[in-house]
Amino acid sequence: MTLKKNYIAGEWVDGEDAIANINPSDTNDVIGEYAQAGTAQLEEAVLAARRAFPAWSTGSIQARSEILDRIGQAILDRRVELGRLLAREEGKTLPEATGEVARAGQIFKYFAGEVLQLRGELQPSVRPGLDVSVTREPLGVIGLITPWNFPIAIPAWKIAPALAYGNCVVFKPAELVPGSAHALAEIIVAAGVPAGVFNLAMGPGRVIGDALVNHPHVDAVSFTGSQNTGRNIAAAAIGRMAKVQLEMGGKNPLVVLDDADLDTAVECAVNGAFFSTGQRCTASSRLVVTAGIHDRFIEAVVERLNGLVVDDALKDGTHIGPVVDERQLQQDQDYINIGSDEGAQLLCGGERVERATPGFYLTPALFTETTADMRINREEIFGPVASVIRADDYEQALAVANDTEFGLSAGIVTQSLKHASHFKRFSQAGMVMVNVPTAGVDYHVPFGGRKGSSYGAREQGSYAREFYTTVKTAYTSA
Ligand code: ADP
Repeated sequence: MTLKKNYIAGEWVDGEDAIANINPSDTNDVIGEYAQAGTAQLEEAVLAARRAFPAWSTGSIQARSEILDRIGQAILDRRVELGRLLAREEGKTLPEATGEVARAGQIFKYFAGEVLQLRGELQPSVRPGLDVSVTREPLGVIGLITPWNFPIAIPAWKIAPALAYGNCVVFKPAELVPGSAHALAEIIVAAGVPAGVFNLAMGPGRVIGDALVNHPHVDAVSFTGSQNTGRNIAAAAIGRMAKVQLEMGGKNPLVVLDDADLDTAVECAVNGAFFSTGQRCTASSRLVVTAGIHDRFIEAVVERLNGLVVDDALKDGTHIGPVVDERQLQQDQDYINIGSDEGAQLLCGGERVERATPGFYLTPALFTETTADMRINREEIFGPVASVIRADDYEQALAVANDTEFGLSAGIVTQSLKHASHFKRFSQAGMVMVNVPTAGVDYHVPFGGRKGSSYGAREQGSYAREFYTTVKTAYTSA
């Protein structure tokens, strides 16, 4: 098996160590061996990015746009092969994985256009004879740290804007999913990105991630991952005055009101809570359901869940792939036990099951008779586990929906314009969904949350420029 290498200062280099990439649908299947960078290599990557910055940031925006477009096109052209790789290493189903790859391609194409959209402002000064211009400039070297659950889309939505606005990048992907990151790096290199502008440094978060966050020549850090890691990264980055952006967890509510269309409610709940094995930060883990539809809704959800196939991510007909690894599976099962101990009723699922190949298979778990203060309703589980909280009416449902330290996505299923409009305004989340699942977003509009879910500027769409550029105000006397 050939070692997949890191890309540092324009060269593919061996690491200090290597890890095996294991298929969670079949732990006998080793996808590849991936080099792990050491801290000296990370240092080299950062310095190479620093050296490349002056030319890249002042070079032709036409060339930059074309490079991003080529990357996007190459991803789209290879979406079937890359989707297979992604499903094989992460465990989401083939259609989900292929969809994610396509989205990554579209993101690069979007930012190929965005390169040409950067504009400034020219204003008269309050002082006669002066003009004031407000322009945006790139930051410098950006450290990008990504999680395992979207192995190509999240790297894409950080790398594409970083490069588009003229920054250089050191990219550290999650340890569990180096395959998609490496394939993406190959595409970026083949598209003609100059040496040092883009660097791939695979390695453990506590070593390589930590070194990146603390490096004095890294001007900004964009991180997606867990809340604990995010907090530590923010403290370290702010400690040395680096710009930082964090996307962390969610405990997203889906409110279902009495007047909801039942099929829509079931579709939103099942898709939002359990597809992608519930391993999305936008997953609906709390189903807040008003009393008049509560029993009918649960009955219909359970019927739907019983028809879902939990199996190998690459198999035709699989609806839910495996959990990503043993540690995550253990966490899911621990929370299932916690929920039962707290007095919630496990109505279905939550069992580890065996399939033709050894993997981390867990049936979708639905808790009922839960209360908002239970740990399963307060802490992010990040697996195929959801709970139903009964509410008396819309007002109580809204209060429960907002009663969380998170605020990423929130949904409502209702036919009432009044309640939908009220919810859009008063939901304390960065993204609000009406009659659509809490998970599943467009790539050209801002993504991000409030409260403990996110920190710093929004990602994606033209809003990404808030993080990846800095503003300059210049005064000119005629
Ligand atoms: P999870 O628990 O889901 O793996 P993490 O927040 O630990 O989530 O991981 C998200 C990303 O952050 C990964 O790329 C991981 O390697 C990285 N990471 C983990 N610990 C640190 C750290 N101390 N400093 C920087 N990055 C880290």
